[in-house]
Amino acid sequence: MVAMKIDGRCHCGNIHFEAEIDRDRVSICHCTDCQALTGSAYRVTVLTSRNAVRLTGKPPKVYVKTGDNGNRRLQYFCPDCGSPMFTGGEGHAADDWGIRWGSIRQRGELRPKRQIWCRSAVPWVDSLGELPSRETD
Ligand SMILES: [Zn+2]
Ligand SMILES: [Zn+2]
Repeated sequence: MVAMKIDGRCHCGNIHFEAEIDRDRVSICHCTDCQALTGSAYRVTVLTSRNAVRLTGKPPKVYVKTGDNGNRRLQYFCPDCGSPMFTGGEGHAADDWGIRWGSIRQRGELRPKRQIWCRSAVPWVDSLGELPSRETD
């Protein structure tokens, strides 16, 4: 456990939060739901407890997705700019929250420590360093 205080916001700034997290609980998910919900190749999330997150500003909107295992997961996002913000569970999993990495101001300090659903990982994910690169667009 490496405790850290973080804060963040959605892209338009209508939703703000502060949280205490464990820097060791940063993970990448390569599942096809995360690909569809982010529009990207994989998703990075900081797992935490609901009690560790304090929300301010506008309330996020919730989309409920049902996973292959039948579990319902709540997907919190900004209704104005669409930024994915949090994930949460229901019932016994109500305290299992996650903060979407891209919404965190200190995200540059948060390195993933594990990855899951690697069977649907895109094959080029490990070879980005081979692409032609520029510092800006
Ligand atoms: Zn927003
Ligand atoms: Zn996923």
